[in-house]
Amino acid sequence: MVDFGYKIQADRQINLDITNKALANFVKKHENSFNTCIGCGTCTATCSTAKFTDFNFRRLQLFIRRGETANVKAEIAKCMLCGKCQLACPRGVNTRNVIMMIKKGLEAHV
Ligand code: SF4
Ligand code: SF4
Repeated sequence: MVDFGYKIQADRQINLDITNKALANFVKKHENSFNTCIGCGTCTATCSTAKFTDFNFRRLQLFIRRGETANVKAEIAKCMLCGKCQLACPRGVNTRNVIMMIKKGLEAHV
């Protein structure tokens, strides 16, 4: 295949009939700072795990907000809960607790 310097991505339209906002609502309810995230990506730039894997907290929070939760369980398993991202976050998001609440929400089958 010829490399034109860009890729044709899969369609990213969100199908509201198959998305589930329950996990996002659970996390927002139990860790209020999740509401203040602006998706800036500072957490991912400093993340200990992202240095060695494709883990990306910014992408994760976006998928959860969109209600696309199919891969969330496998993704959060990569987080080491080191808390570095929390120190760097300009919005004061308690990222470690967000991860814990995501785990709790998944266990509660929300
Ligand atoms: S650094 Fe904070 S505000 Fe920025 S994407 Fe991460 S959690 Fe959200
Ligand atoms: S707590 Fe998780 S998301 Fe945050 S820097 Fe550590 S490994 Fe990355």
